[in-house]
Amino acid sequence: MGQLDLRTGDEGICALPDAFTPQPPPHFAVRRIVLARGSLDTPEREAFVRRVCAAYPDVTVDEQLDTPHNRIDMGEMSPAARHVAGKHTLVFGVLERAVRVSEEAGNCCPNYWHFSVYGFCPYGCTYCYLAGTQGVWFSPSVKIYVNLPQILAEMGRIARQRGGTTYFYHGKLQDGLALDPLTAYSTVMVPFFAKHPSARQILLTKSATVERLLTLEHRERTSLSWSLNPPAVAECYERNVPCVASRIEAMKLCAAAGYPVRAVIMPLIPVGDWDVSYPAFVADLVTRVPLERLTIGGVCSAKQAVRLMEHKLGPTNAISENMKCQSKGGDFRTRYSAELCIAMYDSMIASAREVRPDLEIGLCLESRGVCEAVHKRWRLGRCNCIP
Ligand code: SF4
Repeated sequence: MGQLDLRTGDEGICALPDAFTPQPPPHFAVRRIVLARGSLDTPEREAFVRRVCAAYPDVTVDEQLDTPHNRIDMGEMSPAARHVAGKHTLVFGVLERAVRVSEEAGNCCPNYWHFSVYGFCPYGCTYCYLAGTQGVWFSPSVKIYVNLPQILAEMGRIARQRGGTTYFYHGKLQDGLALDPLTAYSTVMVPFFAKHPSARQILLTKSATVERLLTLEHRERTSLSWSLNPPAVAECYERNVPCVASRIEAMKLCAAAGYPVRAVIMPLIPVGDWDVSYPAFVADLVTRVPLERLTIGGVCSAKQAVRLMEHKLGPTNAISENMKCQSKGGDFRTRYSAELCIAMYDSMIASAREVRPDLEIGLCLESRGVCEAVHKRWRLGRCNCIP
């Protein structure tokens, strides 16, 4: 990796990782690799892409260098079959507008900067809200964007122009770490943010593969955040995902390495004795992991995501059943009833605060009315996506 000029803040000299051995990441069974437009445009990109492809010697590499990464045909007509094919397809490409500001409105979320060096993810959460979004619905492949140096340079420029400290979130449109064994992107990204005078990163993941992170210089300028649910819930609703115990071990390792570590428990799924299992889970979590912040949230799905979820779980699953009493916020996402959400948040916040009275707790993508009601009782703090 190139050096960042701390005097000028010139970060245009980062490079793609070039001294690593790509390892096929757990939970990603690649059956097809596609090289889309831009992926081989420079000798550096070509060397990187060929190196990663070599980790899959038995997989055919299909060059479609005139096709953008989001137009690759999955060869399936039905959304469900296309989704399955996409989860086994690795696409290399270039993302031009990789650094953006979120466009939340009509809920309790603030807007924030986010970026993408990956697109979508290899895991199989049945409730996945991302699977129903416009960008993923027609193009559900797992993507690696090879213009990483340019993406980092853009964030560096934005941070310098804005003045003060700017946080960039990685995990809105992808899992932020699942593909790191394959790309070693963390070895460029974490030092970049560590050295930059004013750019910082927050990364959300369900990955448990963190060995590479532990020796990187981070200067606490990368916050690592794990998405979790109680193990019994995860076993039913999070398919082909690292088990919860391994995620918690990864959190402990990263906290011991000095990273600020956060947790997001979302979507809460009211199954069985949820009023016992969720508070018990959160109490155990905050006892075992020195969390910087906890964020919780119910379900908030758009129509297409619900369609895919019901294809996987059937129409009478616990999420759909509880969304029948939906509270549609101003953002038109479907949620559980306000009463159910407040009851779930109350029980979890009480449990967490009993162990850690000082713990900052925020809500994610919740309606304003529910946020205000919960805030009155518990004085909510900031959520995961912001500093
Ligand atoms: S980790 Fe996130 S993006 Fe990946 S399948 Fe699960 S919910 Fe979807």
